[in-house]
Parts: sequence; C-alpha cells; structure tokens
Amino acid sequence: MEIKEYLKPKSIEEAYEALLSNINNKIIGGGAWIKISLKKVDTLISLDDLKLNYIKEENDFFEIGSMTPLRDLEINKGLNDLAGGIISKAIGNIMGVSIRNIATIGGSVMGKFAFSDLLGVLMVLDAELIFYNSGVISVEDFINMPKIPKDILLSIRLKKQTAKGYFKKVATTHLDFSILNLAIVYNERFKIAIGSRPNIAVLAKRTEEYLNGFKKLDEANLDEVVKISLEEVKLGDNSRGSKEYRELLMKTYLKRGIREVIK
Ligand SMILES: Cc1cc2nc3c(=O)[nH]c(=O)nc-3n(C[C@H](O)[C@H](O)[C@H](O)COP(=O)(O)OP(=O)(O)OC[C@H]3O[C@@H](n4cnc5c(N)ncnc54)[C@H](O)[C@@H]3O)c2cc1C
Repeated sequence: MEIKEYLKPKSIEEAYEALLSNINNKIIGGGAWIKISLKKVDTLISLDDLKLNYIKEENDFFEIGSMTPLRDLEINKGLNDLAGGIISKAIGNIMGVSIRNIATIGGSVMGKFAFSDLLGVLMVLDAELIFYNSGVISVEDFINMPKIPKDILLSIRLKKQTAKGYFKKVATTHLDFSILNLAIVYNERFKIAIGSRPNIAVLAKRTEEYLNGFKKLDEANLDEVVKISLEEVKLGDNSRGSKEYRELLMKTYLKRGIREVIK
C-alpha cells in the first residue's frame, strides 16, 4: 500500500477532521483487510491512541470499542453467555487466531463485507452502532444504507438477553469465505439472518413472522418455513457456489438451526 502520510491522532475530533479533509484519507482499524485491498491512500488515520480497545459489561448491555480485536470478543466470558456463544462461534470460524488477534470488530463492521460471518450475527442480536458524528444506528439500518458513512465507528452495543442461538458457516475449507452462513436467535421470538448469499447478510423477516405465529412447530411447518425463506431471501451464484447449492444449504441448516434453538 502506498501511504503519503500516517497520522496518529490524540483525539476523536482530530481523527474525524482528518477523515473529512480529503476524500483519499482513510481510517485504519487492525489493517488486516485494508493492507491487502487498498492500493493508495493520502493520509492513513490510526485509531490506536484513542482508547477504543475495550469490552465493558454493564447491567443491561455490553459495549465493545471498535478497535477491539475479534479474538478478544471470541474469548470474552460475558459475551460467550449471550445466545449460546453465537459471537464466539461466528468469530472462531474466521481464519486463524493470528488474524483474529489483528482484525478488529470496527473494521469488520465498516468493511460491510458481503462474505461477513459477523454482520448477520450482529443483526440477530439487534446490535447498535455508535458513530462519532451520526450517533446511534442499528446494524440493520447501517447495512441498508446505500453508502458507507464517512464517519468513525466508536463502539458496538449489545443488549443482554437470555436467548438461544445457532450459527452455521459452510465453506470449502476452514480458511475460506462462507458459501453461506446462517445466524438464528430465539427468545420466544425468532430472528434469522442469512449471509454470504453471496450478497451481504439480510434478515429473513417474513420467515421470522411466520415462525413467530406458532405456539408449537412440527415438521410440516418447517417445510413451509423453508418455502417462505427461499421466496424472500435472494440467493445467487459466485465462484464459491451456485444458487442451487446455496438453496440446498439454506434448506438443511435453517431446519437444523430452528430445531436446535427450540429444543
Ligand atoms: C485473509 C483474510 C480472510 C478473512 N476471512 C474472513 C471470513 O471468512 N469471514 C469474515 O467475516 N471476515 C473475514 N475477514 C475479515 C476480517 O474478519 C475483518 O473483518 C477485516 O480484517 C477488517 O478488520 P480490520 O480491523 O482488519 O479492518 P481494516 O482493514 O483496518 O479496515 C477495514 C475497513 O473499515 C474501515 N474502518 C476500520 N475501523 C473503522 C472505524 N472504527 N471507524 C470507521 N471506519 C473504520 C477502514 O477504513 C476500512 O475501510 C478476513 C480478513 C482477511 C485479511
């Protein structure tokens, strides 16, 4: 990567001003992705000195600083109690520990990667993103924004909840991107996200609504669930898998995940 200047601001205000001052200035989180994807940058703005590396547990929620490495989330005891450790399950399937020690939660959100194993999980957990300028935005609204805001993500807030959770990543090898991933949270109501479709993760809202209408589910209901999900969630082809293969994966793991969280 060709960098003209490297800036280590001492305050968020300074970092934000530098970001806005030139269209070719960029924030660097852990740098794991930016270093292999960005060719040229005028000023690279480090957030290292801004004390954004933390996981705080409050009475009702967790607050995670945007510079926290994925590995810290993966092994955090409090976060592991959330929805059956769904965060840890999703992160534990991303590359090896050495990458997870570098890649940050902030970079994972702001990259808005279609292959992301985390965005769906954050959506089913109703995560809120706290930005320096834009304030609080839900992950779902952030994903639906046509453009990534020119802003600094400060932290991610996750409400505590006693839910059951399921996460599945299907990939050709352990080190590869998902061909499809599914995240399900159940706490009397279902939240379901499908990612790497190959497009960015979406909530399966009609499927959730159908499921939430039942007191007790049987196998015939599950067949209908699969039918609705295939109608509403757009799946497609890429070099990792065909639309038809993704449909088979969704049928199999959606049923499996629902059965698991209602046990
Ligand atoms: C080889 C490789 C394989 C991977 N495989 C997977 C995978 O299978 N599944 C998966 O989910 N992820 C995968 N990832 C992505 C990884 O989990 C991280 O999401 C990625 O590395 C970004 O995190 P980072 O800290 O490195 O961000 P960076 O590379 O530093 O930044 C990424 C983007 O976010 C912006 N940014 C970073 N922090 C902030 C902030 N606080 N505020 C505003 N903007 C910010 C940067 O400007 C940049 O545009 C992979 C990454 C690598 C390098």
